[in-house]
Amino acid sequence: MEIVKKQGPITGEQIAERLSLTRATLRPDMAILTMSGVLGARPRVGYFYNGKTPDKLVAEKLHKVKVGTVKSVPVVVEENCSVYDAVVTMFISDVGTLFVVKEGGFLEGVISRKDLLKITLGVHDIHKLPVGVIMTRMPNVIYTDQDESVWSAAKKILNHEIDALPVVRQKEEMEGRAGLEVVGRLSKTSIARVFVELGEDGQ
Ligand code: ADP
Repeated sequence: MEIVKKQGPITGEQIAERLSLTRATLRPDMAILTMSGVLGARPRVGYFYNGKTPDKLVAEKLHKVKVGTVKSVPVVVEENCSVYDAVVTMFISDVGTLFVVKEGGFLEGVISRKDLLKITLGVHDIHKLPVGVIMTRMPNVIYTDQDESVWSAAKKILNHEIDALPVVRQKEEMEGRAGLEVVGRLSKTSIARVFVELGEDGQ
């Protein structure tokens, strides 16, 4: 890298000569440096330095992954769904966060595992109590959209100490009034999946 940085563009032959190695010995290293994007290579010109460190390349890659490509299916209930049914829905769907929507799929609130646990500590009839009473309600819901980078959505999850974000898109709700239609779910698991996939390249 140092040689190419100082003397590029430079051919593989010339680099090998400077290092007192054969061209063949150097080939695998040059392949890694060009594949990772640290060095560029042009036929009949040689290798040149890209000006990007491996860290910068990884960061760039992370910013390119959009929420829309990694989101999963949202699990939704309506505001009048009972706490009991919400618990059952969580178990059946194997998720930790439910999104509460009104007719048309518009976002109204979020319920987490602990919201449900908390209410079971009181003397409530969880068959009758609707989730609307305990949910975190709009406009306090933190959400994301398909075009946001997973990196920036992950920051929201960390900053607000939550487990998942509804993925929404703006849609006319009624007579020109814009609403947020729930189209997906981005959870800590979705982010872990991106992390593992990005790491796969470097194994
Ligand atoms: P858990 O309660 O299982 O630890 P969270 O950390 O996600 O799950 O939830 C903590 C609190 O934050 C709960 O009261 C929940 O209603 C609320 N919450 C969860 N997700 C969101 C969100 N996307 N926007 C706003 N509040 C949320």
